[in-house]
Amino acid sequence: MTGYDVDLFVIGAGSGGVRAARIAANHGAKVMVAEEFRIGGTCVIRGCVPKKLYVYASRFAGDFAAAESFGWRLPGKPEFDWRKLVAAKEAEITRLSGLYAANLAKSSVEIVQERAEVAGPNEIRLVGSGRRLTARHILVATGGAPQMHPEIPGIEHAISSNEVFDLPDFPQKLVIVGSGYIAVEFASIFARLGADVTLLFRADRILRGFDDFMREGLSEELTAAGVRQLAGVLPTAIEKTAKGLGVKLSNGEGLVADQVLVATGRAPHTAGLGLEQAGVELEWNGAIRVNDESATNVPSIHAVGDVTHRINLTPVAIREGHLLADRLFGGGVQSVDYAFIPTAVFTTPEIGTVGLTEAEAREKYAIVDIYQTAFRPMKATISGGAGRTRMKIVVDGDSDRVLGVHILGEDAGEMAQTLAISLRLGAKKADFDATMALHPSAAEELVTLR
Ligand code: NDP
Repeated sequence: MTGYDVDLFVIGAGSGGVRAARIAANHGAKVMVAEEFRIGGTCVIRGCVPKKLYVYASRFAGDFAAAESFGWRLPGKPEFDWRKLVAAKEAEITRLSGLYAANLAKSSVEIVQERAEVAGPNEIRLVGSGRRLTARHILVATGGAPQMHPEIPGIEHAISSNEVFDLPDFPQKLVIVGSGYIAVEFASIFARLGADVTLLFRADRILRGFDDFMREGLSEELTAAGVRQLAGVLPTAIEKTAKGLGVKLSNGEGLVADQVLVATGRAPHTAGLGLEQAGVELEWNGAIRVNDESATNVPSIHAVGDVTHRINLTPVAIREGHLLADRLFGGGVQSVDYAFIPTAVFTTPEIGTVGLTEAEAREKYAIVDIYQTAFRPMKATISGGAGRTRMKIVVDGDSDRVLGVHILGEDAGEMAQTLAISLRLGAKKADFDATMALHPSAAEELVTLR
């Protein structure tokens, strides 16, 4: 007996919180998790999962266009039903959310469906019921929220990725602000579903931080898909007009859109949680300051996932939550290894990447060897299309170690996942070269590039 109501109180039933709760309970801890919205968090409810479903929907457009060159005769012009997709998505995320809740219950984790706030180093206040509980450990896993821009007049007419999945009507004209993951993914989805899409962003090119070869290639692909990209242009005002939303631009021009989607990053969700009063230190951007073990400066309070604003990816939050629960209740000593985290940008074509970009490698290593190629994907030899698959391997010229691999093309995300294993194992370019090719595939280029 610990003398507390629970051993672990988790605020937020998203990817990191749910994993920590279940693992802690499996170690024998008494665990409670509070969620004010829906069980599953951003990834399941309004992030990765519904996004990927919409990506699949958007890819049929290209498949229908290519089908006839492979001998198919389609009965008529394919029509897309937005509301049917939204309903199908809703059914799937409801199923997943139920599965998360059921798994928590199976692990004997108690779920509290209301907002919880930190009332002290070992105390929780449930906002709806006013109940107070004591906890030996508190885990804050509240994620993040879209960063909107109150300085832009009329910003209340814009939406974020939270709302875009459930728009009552398909936006025929869509303006997207930003050029990170969310902006380019939705630009690709909506353009392929038939919308007229304009991307506004402050940088000179999309996807800052990714390898330039990929950025340039994806930009060309998006242009080919009909996405207008206005670099160095941002909205200065949005107003409702009879024709739709009038968007004033920083270049003095204007646009009319059905919807304006703001995708300029996500901010850690810490406001009003009582953290400062409990003595928890925050970063300048509101993120909870944690060490490598996800511990805050208050020994009984911990944080994982996007609320710590380290690497904002679901598998990272899951790993952080898992290892924290192991450490607190299972005698675990392992810390999260943040090296070689693969990631994908689910545009069409998609980007799959792991390791250093060429620019990052040149900053860290004296000699950097680059192997890159751009080729027409085999499917396009019959169906046509100007798109090119791009691949780049970044190698440390001194040790021959592969530092990074970047791919733009079909299944690039799937390739990046398996490549991450090789890079973690310290694969050298010579190991890639010695590996037999799998023919015919796009991935074989990775072992035949010289
Ligand atoms: P990102 O951090 O990827 O991109 C933010 C974008 O907003 C950039 O284009 C950035 O511009 C721009 N921006 C930031 N601040 C401003 C500002 N004040 N004015 C104008 N533009 C601004 O964020 P997202 O919102 O796209 O996604 C949030 C997070 O969610 C990502 O970091 C990622 O970790 C995660 N995510 C992962 C996905 C995946 O794994 N496939 C998919 C979707 C999200 P600039 O380039 O100039 O800095």
